[in-house]
Amino acid sequence: MTRGFQDGKSRRAFERSRRAMPGGVNSPVRACARVGRPPLFVKSAKGSRISDVDGNEYIDYVSSWGACILGHACPAVVEAVREAAADGLTFGAPTERETEMAELVRELVPSMELSRMVNSGTEAAMSAVRVARGFTGRDDIVKFDGCYHGHSDGMLVKAGSGALSHAVPDSAGVPADFARHTLVAPYNDAAAVERLFREHPSSIAAIVVEPVAANAGVVLPESGFLESLRELATRYGALLVFDEVITGFRLSLGGAQERFGVVPDLSVFGKIAGGGMPAAIYGGREDVMRRVAPDGPVYQAGTLSGNPLATAAGLATLKILKGDPGIYARLEKKSARLAAGIEAASRGSVKVSQIGSLLGVSFDGDADRRYADWYSNLLQRGVYVAPSRFEAMFVSDAHTEADIDETLAAAREFFVEEGL
Ligand code: PMP
Repeated sequence: MTRGFQDGKSRRAFERSRRAMPGGVNSPVRACARVGRPPLFVKSAKGSRISDVDGNEYIDYVSSWGACILGHACPAVVEAVREAAADGLTFGAPTERETEMAELVRELVPSMELSRMVNSGTEAAMSAVRVARGFTGRDDIVKFDGCYHGHSDGMLVKAGSGALSHAVPDSAGVPADFARHTLVAPYNDAAAVERLFREHPSSIAAIVVEPVAANAGVVLPESGFLESLRELATRYGALLVFDEVITGFRLSLGGAQERFGVVPDLSVFGKIAGGGMPAAIYGGREDVMRRVAPDGPVYQAGTLSGNPLATAAGLATLKILKGDPGIYARLEKKSARLAAGIEAASRGSVKVSQIGSLLGVSFDGDADRRYADWYSNLLQRGVYVAPSRFEAMFVSDAHTEADIDETLAAAREFFVEEGL
């Protein structure tokens, strides 16, 4: 089956958008530059399926980059947004819903003693770093090669996914003076972090880490790595910040910190926390978070922070996750079958790392070319994966066993064709 988007409306939509926006898109990876095809322009999405403007339907493993753990347009979430919208779109004044959200997040993730809502993962990570600096009175941070924490200036140093894909790991426009405060260590290398602390014993405010590195393939933390970071941060008076924008509410209800049993001082959540709307959260230890304005001197604010629609979507999503004790086991089972099936079909030429409903598919050999072929072939067979090999595949609760079967059939056909 060949999908008809190549010469159709998606292509024309892309030609038009390129005249109006950089790369024709509002976020770089969407331009699909690395896979050499125009992006599909989306018309709508429902459950596990996404439809383009040419009328093609695909099983979607991008899941809005991990936001849609319940699948697209989950009825209860859409209804919560509709109800909230009827009462007004934004007030710039507190609502009880926001308190309910902060309380629910604390119930699910006990380290989130106090939290703040913001509008994106970028903003949440940037704010967490500012609080860590304000709390410790130190300027430097440690991050890991390939980890992505949004596009704030100091974080665009050795960042994964979009930055790697576009071969600009250090963005133009970031003053060297800002990047200088970001110290970079290889992921899974606690000894390198210890060396950084020995060289800078009293200037590191925080270690910022994705507890599973999900923006450079899906790299799992080696046994003891997160525990070592916890110990080093405590020993040197720095804070440990978990960026759970991807792992939060995905690896378990309590996120990666629950799954691995390592408690950070601060955490950052996004994607699922907003239920498909623009919301993210940062928070953690009460003594640290009390430094945030107006309780303390660390300034952070937002006109649309805690927006009623976004909060309603996030709350509805978290309540569904909380009320469905079987959901994470179901996600894990489906995802494990998908991962094993892809590996088996590839006859050893790809490795799939999987944890919970997060999958990273890495190709050996000419990985860029092979991934571009994989993307195009799957698309033609009705399966939509990320247009960058550094991005994860996300399985949602809406993906059925039949979807997994269909995906594996498409994968098998691809590998057979590739072998010819
Ligand atoms: N942190 C991580 C781990 C992410 O994966 C992302 C986005 N993919 C961000 C932060 C930034 O989030 P946003 O795109 O919402 O700004």
